[in-house]
Amino acid sequence: MPRPVRASIRPSALRHNLEVARRHARDSRIWAVVKAGAYGHGLLRAAAALSDADGYALLDLNEAVRLREAGITKPILLLEGIFQPADLETVDRCGLTLALHDREQILMLERSRLSAPVAVCLKLNTGMHRLGFAGAQVRAAYSRLQASGKVAAITLMTHFADADGAGGVAAQMARFAQWTAGLGGEATLANSAALLRYPETRADWVRPGIMLYGCSPFAELSADALGLQPAMTLASEIIALQELKPGDRVGYGGTFAAMRPMRIGVVACGYADGYPRHAPGFNDRSTPVLVAGRRTHTLGRVSMDMLCVDLSDIAEARVGSPVVLWGEGLSADEVAASAGTLSYELLCALAARVPQIEVE
Ligand SMILES: *Cc1c(COP(=O)(O)O)cnc(C)c1O
Repeated sequence: MPRPVRASIRPSALRHNLEVARRHARDSRIWAVVKAGAYGHGLLRAAAALSDADGYALLDLNEAVRLREAGITKPILLLEGIFQPADLETVDRCGLTLALHDREQILMLERSRLSAPVAVCLKLNTGMHRLGFAGAQVRAAYSRLQASGKVAAITLMTHFADADGAGGVAAQMARFAQWTAGLGGEATLANSAALLRYPETRADWVRPGIMLYGCSPFAELSADALGLQPAMTLASEIIALQELKPGDRVGYGGTFAAMRPMRIGVVACGYADGYPRHAPGFNDRSTPVLVAGRRTHTLGRVSMDMLCVDLSDIAEARVGSPVVLWGEGLSADEVAASAGTLSYELLCALAARVPQIEVE
């Protein structure tokens, strides 16, 4: 028997979440963001479930090639563009859409030999200060692209730094409008948070990621409240039971100490499976877990292959009882918040050794 840890992936949830995105997007087209192996859900599986999207967005050229080899003919946007001139051969062969955020990339494009002009997204740095052109550089880059003869359509693109937070989008929207005034072409601005919170960011294309996987981009608003369904459930089983006496300690470093007699369970899931090692399991602060459908919490440090949970109030729990680490019944957002991170990181960090199974 293999270890009982596994990730169930629910294509019906992906389809449902895409419909939610579609309702918010209205007439805007949707680039389904499937970077990082579709946020850990399996690139091809997720792309198939999200086939009602108008296109796909990712970063890795090899992932783009895999989508084309799987027969996908919709637009595929490379969010970071190209990294070296040779990448343009693949872009050309596979008909990929290219984000351009740097002068080096424009130079590569100008010097390339393409069989046909390529569709590009000109990326503007409107406040994130990560990638893109700003101020007067925008018009200069746009003109150069137009003059290059290498470019078909130019879509104007930016990315929000704080659409999920207090900063909002207004300052970045204002810069975008100012720097692109009079430039022709479509525009793409919104990630999940902007799509859900700021209808004015919809433009021609939206780029939702995390919401498609059933997690919330907002700290204070749950995925459930947004009508989203978790697409990944990380589950395992209890593999051992222990009875603790007062004073007994649990796990490496003995960071949890029993204050009373307790019954605890050992779960076959650890940080080598992608469970966050920093999820607290202290006496006064711990991380939620479902055992046999009932809510309990972690105890002590997370080990490489195991973690411990409190079963004192779950009398029916046995070796073999089902455990949900996150997903259905327990949002990855909540587990992530407890561990001081985001659901994005948990989903992407699902380890390759965890078998993924598709469920309806
Ligand atoms: C990852 C990414 C997105 C999707 O962001 P979510 O917060 O997951 O919706 C959109 N645009 C760009 C440029 C990205 O890198």
